Amino acid sequence: MINEIMDVCIIGSGPAGLSASVYAGRAGLKHVIYEKFPMSGGQIVNTGDVENYLGFTSIGGFDLALKFYEHAVKAGGIFKNETVKSISKSNGIFEIISEKGKTEYFKTVIAATGAKSKTLGARGEAEFTGKGVSYCAHCDGAFYRNQTAVVVGGGDTAVSDALFLSNLCRQVIVVHRRDEFRAAKSLVNKLETKENVKILRGFVLNEIKGDTKAQSVILKSVTNNETQEFLTDGVFIAVGVSPVNELFKDIAETDEAGFLTANEDCKTSLDGLFVAGDLRAKPLRQIVTAVSDGANAVYSAEKYLREG
Ligand SMILES: Cc1cc2nc3c(=O)[nH]c(=O)nc-3n(C[C@H](O)[C@H](O)[C@H](O)COP(=O)(O)OP(=O)(O)OC[C@H]3O[C@@H](n4cnc5c(N)ncnc54)[C@H](O)[C@@H]3O)c2cc1C
Repeated sequence: MINEIMDVCIIGSGPAGLSASVYAGRAGLKHVIYEKFPMSGGQIVNTGDVENYLGFTSIGGFDLALKFYEHAVKAGGIFKNETVKSISKSNGIFEIISEKGKTEYFKTVIAATGAKSKTLGARGEAEFTGKGVSYCAHCDGAFYRNQTAVVVGGGDTAVSDALFLSNLCRQVIVVHRRDEFRAAKSLVNKLETKENVKILRGFVLNEIKGDTKAQSVILKSVTNNETQEFLTDGVFIAVGVSPVNELFKDIAETDEAGFLTANEDCKTSLDGLFVAGDLRAKPLRQIVTAVSDGANAVYSAEKYLREG
């Protein structure tokens, strides 16, 4: 027997989920926020300094996460430190089952489970992550102003990142394992005109070396296995991002990469299911876009609850 059907279930308490919670609270919607990790804040909990979120010239990721969480708590949502294991919908009602086997019922759901950067598994990569190795040029590029940066990858993201960094860094070295880039031809043409960009085709990243931070990369030729060492201040790995979509990929439409498709209104193909943050198919995955999605998702959910 169903005891209670609440208004909104928010899955994930990163910037998108916490923003959604603030907006849900202010709209008077009874809501639960599920988070699998002991601390809310999502990817920014483990981020060094954030320098591009409006209102803060520089703030530690952990501190920003704490501020987001404290703000969300004031909105009156019910926080549950539990992983959501399954979601289904019948007769217009969502059934959410958590890892503890508890079942709860909701009229709407906001999917805010985020995304994960793909790693290469190169030697030194894990050791120097956050110490010269980054997966986000738009987040960390400014730390390498007038320095040297290596970008690894051959898709749109890698080439866009290299172009972005070429305006900040003294030198950018782009490492791609194939001869041809997968990125749009227009982007590659633009990259090739940049005087401070060196493009190394047919090389893979073998190792990142350093003491307390990354200082050089060892690249290996895919044709003859010969290695070369290049000094660098930063290494940007841009080999893709994977959506955390297990709960939703079979109930709502995704793009080819598995991100849930929705416009700025955050409405997915399944009525009553909204998507916010990095999980949404969109060009820029940042705190500000996640927070904005959280607000839009609740706006749409509130309208759905009112009008059906
Ligand atoms: C190293 C790094 C540095 C970055 N630096 C910056 C920066 O300087 N500036 C900037 O704007 N952006 C930065 N970003 C990007 C930014 O962190 C993301 O865009 C933002 O966190 C996305 O928010 P989100 O809420 O969509 O997802 P996330 O932050 O990924 O949060 C998703 C949450 O959902 C939870 N979750 C997942 N599955 C479940 C489940 N089944 N049940 C319950 N909970 C679940 C996760 O535990 C997580 O807490 C950085 C990212 C990284 C990786």
